[in-house]
Amino acid sequence: MEGYRAYLDEAVASILQWEGEWGAYEPHPALDVEDGRFREALARYTDRLRGNYPFFHPRYAGQMLKPPHPAAVAGYLAAMLINPNNHALDGGPPTGQMEKEVVAQLGHMFHLPEDTLGHLTTSGTIANLEALWVARELHPGKAVAFSEDAHYTHRRMSQVLGVPVEPISTDGRGHMDLDALAAKLESGRIGTVVFTAGTTGLGTLDPIADGIDLARQYDCRVHIDAAYGGFFSILAWGGSDLLASEAQRDLQAIASADSVVVDPHKHGLQPYGCGCVLFRDPTVGHLYKHDSPYTYFTSDELHLGEISLECSRAGAAAGALWLTLQLLPLEQDRGLGPVLSACLRAARKWSRLLDDSETLRPYNEPELDIVTFYPAAGSRRISELDAASARLFDHAMNDPDDPIFLSLYRVGSGEFIERMPELVADQPHARILRSVLMKPEHEFAVPNLHERLSDLALETEARLNRTT
Ligand SMILES: *Cc1c(COP(=O)(O)O)cnc(C)c1O
Repeated sequence: MEGYRAYLDEAVASILQWEGEWGAYEPHPALDVEDGRFREALARYTDRLRGNYPFFHPRYAGQMLKPPHPAAVAGYLAAMLINPNNHALDGGPPTGQMEKEVVAQLGHMFHLPEDTLGHLTTSGTIANLEALWVARELHPGKAVAFSEDAHYTHRRMSQVLGVPVEPISTDGRGHMDLDALAAKLESGRIGTVVFTAGTTGLGTLDPIADGIDLARQYDCRVHIDAAYGGFFSILAWGGSDLLASEAQRDLQAIASADSVVVDPHKHGLQPYGCGCVLFRDPTVGHLYKHDSPYTYFTSDELHLGEISLECSRAGAAAGALWLTLQLLPLEQDRGLGPVLSACLRAARKWSRLLDDSETLRPYNEPELDIVTFYPAAGSRRISELDAASARLFDHAMNDPDDPIFLSLYRVGSGEFIERMPELVADQPHARILRSVLMKPEHEFAVPNLHERLSDLALETEARLNRTT
């Protein structure tokens, strides 16, 4: 796949050829832009884009960010030139059909039933909104429970929907505490329980398998937010030994959920604008019913616009995912599986280096591919530890010759004290360092990242001691 620009050229050429087949027409001068101006403005634009952090490079080991796969870029570009709207099948029959195919593939990935209903969304946020909306319609007046480590979107979207919430405490390692859930379920107020498969902060999996059993005892609906971790189901069902047995069991348990959200624009190699919601019971589709006088005029089939809260959606997003999955299928031994396996190995490798390090200390044992740590730096108080993390973060990012980009993550002091009882909790939170190792190249880059950060950590503290 050297020089993938050739594929972009081919994609553009094929679409231009197709356009040519419709006959010549006169382009309107109103849209014309003089070449020199186009070139100049484009140069200024791409120059401004240089202000980004290098998300593509292994030295960027911060947030959940990476460029799409070239297949997704070529797929998106080709469809975008046509600009189909997957609001309705008439808005773009081929990408509408492709959307159905990729949604079926994602349903299979979770081992959901054949007739699972679903569609792509613009984001995980909208996908979760739809799942919570369906939950509200089926359990009116009841609360939604989610763990304190769940994505903040659940609290926010519940507010949008006017649904009461029940935050459930965690066990200090980022998992929902099922005893706390059981106590809340006893109240009879909860209608839906949300379990997270791969929390956004620590990448941990809620105890989904046991949690579902518990929720069912109280006749609750179960929604799984697998926006981040959903694709690791491929490895769970493939029996990969890179996942712990509980992780495997919890990911497999997603198969019995009522609804699931997964974000192809996170681990599915897609550009932003690609989430997905899946419903086990296809009859929830009737909740979306509406009357529109101006859409749907040529097909009798189920319209994607009839089962989506959003109206216009990029057909290109479905096309990009379709082409990507043709080349990198949702399988353990080829396609996406080896990509995900490399990310897990990267996290394991770094975790072992942190275990043996005197400079950097591990915070959580990674369950997926997110690694958390903090500088040892001899801190005796939470405030010192917090400041040391922030110093290393700044120093690493601003190094002019060999920068490394991390992210900061805020944890409660109580959770820290559980790990280091000798620490003095002089403030309620501490920032630690967090690396999402979602690029397979991290597998090779981790030893260097670790060594470089250890050096930077020593340098940062030496610098501080000189100035104080
Ligand atoms: C990213 C994420 C979301 C939000 O999805 P967006 O695509 O960013 O809107 C929700 N839940 C989890 C677990 C996530 O990781």
